Formats: sequence, structure tokens, C-alpha cells
Amino acid sequence: MPELLDHLRQQLAALDEHSLRRRRRIVESPQGPELTLDGRRYLSFCSNDYLGLANHPRVCEALQAGVARYGAGAGASALISGHSRAAEQLEQRLAQFTGLPRALYFATGYMANLGIIPALAGPGDVVFSDRLNHACLIDGTRLSGAKLRIYPHTDLDRLEKLLRQSRSGRRWIITDAVFSMDGDLAPLPRLARLCEQYDAWLLVDDAHGFGVLGPQGRGSLAHFGLQSRRIVYMATLGKAAGVAGAFVAGEPLFIEWLLQRARTYVFTTAAPPALAGALLAALDLIEQEDWRRQHLQRLIARLHAACASLPWRLLPSQSAVQALLVGDNQRALDLMTGLQQRGIWVPAIRPPTVPRGTARLRVSLSAAHGLEQVDQLGDALRELA
Ligand code: PMP
Repeated sequence: MPELLDHLRQQLAALDEHSLRRRRRIVESPQGPELTLDGRRYLSFCSNDYLGLANHPRVCEALQAGVARYGAGAGASALISGHSRAAEQLEQRLAQFTGLPRALYFATGYMANLGIIPALAGPGDVVFSDRLNHACLIDGTRLSGAKLRIYPHTDLDRLEKLLRQSRSGRRWIITDAVFSMDGDLAPLPRLARLCEQYDAWLLVDDAHGFGVLGPQGRGSLAHFGLQSRRIVYMATLGKAAGVAGAFVAGEPLFIEWLLQRARTYVFTTAAPPALAGALLAALDLIEQEDWRRQHLQRLIARLHAACASLPWRLLPSQSAVQALLVGDNQRALDLMTGLQQRGIWVPAIRPPTVPRGTARLRVSLSAAHGLEQVDQLGDALRELA
């Protein structure tokens, strides 16, 4: 066999050996508390549809109306002819909703971060990054050519030492607002203060806080009542907002610069216009329906009560992301399989998504879940324990 193919075969075998091979399941239903996967119905705790909007009739109707008006595709990049009226309205609505001066809509969150960071930082600059930041923040930093300094998770004393030592270039601190595999919140007010103190800038990725935290779901900055011209805020629209995409918001000069220079904005086909229409409908629901967030908080409390007597630790989290720490890869997979056999789908998360030795079950709660469904999960976990 040619050398490269032989190498890949061995690498895949090594993944098998360490219980790290991933396999896709075929989904045959809309997102919801129950999901049809590989032909079987499951109670699902695997989706980031935190508010239950991915299959909401008003969102789906807006999507259909968008298709009727604009058709399927955007045709070109936003700077050529892909910037639809719907996308323009969405950007204005996102700016108003987050209380930030201007917003720019990207096709995905991963692409947004791959574009934003290299447009704002470059060789000679330093990016300080929390160890548990999402892969796209790390990849964006690598692409930028800036020096990457990783600080231990939310360890701001260590971060401050690193800031003090750094002399050259511009300084950016980048962080998940709600950490995607742990569910805890970054200490954003203290990070903003460090930025003031050390003349640094802060990029906040609120993929998991937008829609869930803050008054009317306005996100993690609103949760902390935090405002600063030093913050560039990004959030994704495929999770609580239930559709797809992402946006960045902040000082108009930042946004204008990103529109000109974020390569993943400039050189990619714009998202289908109908998605922007669906997102406008989702934003109305996020803003108006506080009961979704209140119910989510009840579900979180119920899950913590249900997991209190388990041999695994449910990490503290006030977000929809709830992590049950198992440790060993195979044990996490076995637990996932045990739940599957009981008709419950909770994904096991293994390295490299999480640090080695911290394999876990990632329980995603949604406002569409009932309390009794969380009880069902708790009962199954106790049985398996
Ligand atoms: N940032 C964080 C913190 C995420 O968890 C994710 C996706 N899981 C992304 C960005 C990427 O967003 P998208 O799925 O829209 O590409």
C-alpha cells in the first residue's frame, strides 16, 4: 500500500485502540426533545437548540417565506451581490438586540473566528487564550501569525503575569463566554478590567450564552451588565437561535474593518438569505419568551438534584451546557451506550475536544425538555451507576 495510505490506516487503527474513533448517526427528524437517530427514537440531550427554536413554527414559516422571496442561494459573496435586504435587517436587529453599535453576519461561527482574529491581530501581536477555548479561536489565532499564550482555565492571576511580561505589539485576550464543554462562565468583568489595565483588547465568543443568558437572552455581556469599547463580541446563531450562522458586534470601526478584511467574510458565498429571515423570527422569540429561559433554569436545578448522588461529578454551570465528568474514554463511551440502550441519547465527549483524562457526558438541556424527561435521565444514570 502507498506509504501515506498505510500511515492513515495505522492512525485510524490507533483511534480505535484509544476509543477515539467517531461515527456519525443518521438523523431523520427535526430537532426536539426526541430525535430519530439511525431509525430509532431517542430522548435526546445532544442538541445545542437550547431554547427549542430549531423547529419552531414561526421560525420555519419565516424560512419558507424567505425562500419564496429570495429563492435558495445567495449567489455570491456579500461584497459582490450576496448581501440581501434580510441580512441587512438582521445585522441591524442584532446590533440593537445586543446594545452594540454595529454587527456583521457570518455564515458560521467557525468561519467568523477564523476571519476575525487574523484581521485584528498579526505577527508581532500577542493573543492570550484560555486553555479551554473553542478550537476555532485557537485556529484563528494560529492563522493570524500572532504569538499564542495559553493561560490555565480562568486563571486570571496567571493571565495577569503573562500580560505583565509581554512588551511588544498589541495584546488580545480571547475567551469563550460560556465554555462549550464545561458550561461555566468566563469572568468577563475581570477580563475587561485587565484589558484596561494592560492596554489589551478582548474578543468574547458567546456561542453558548447568546439567547440563554442576560435579560431577554441578550447574552453574556448583558448578563454581567458589561460595556466596554475594548470588547469585540461574537456569538453564533445555530445554537439558541436555532438556525445557523454567527455575528460579530462592537465599535463601528472594528466592524467596518472586518467587513473589508475578514477573509472568511470576503471570500465566501453569503449564507442563503432565507436564513436571515428565519433568524429575525427567532430573535423575536428569544426577546419575547422569557419563559424559555426560566424553564431552562428549572431543568438545570432538576438535573443537579438528580445527579447529586452519582459517582460522577456534574460540573457547576448555570448554562444549558451540563458536563458529567467521567474521566476515562472507554467508561464515558460505556455510559453513553448504557443510556442509548435505555433510549436516551447523550454524547460522550473525548479528547481532543476535551483535555486527556476528562472524558465526559455533555448533557445539553433545551427549553423544549419537560422536567419528567430530566428525571428519566437521572433515573437511567442512577441505574447505570
Ligand atoms: N465558538 C464556540 C464556543 C463553539 O462552541 C462553536 C460550535 N460548537 C463555534 C464557535 C462554532 O460555531 P458554528 O457551529 O456556527 O460554526
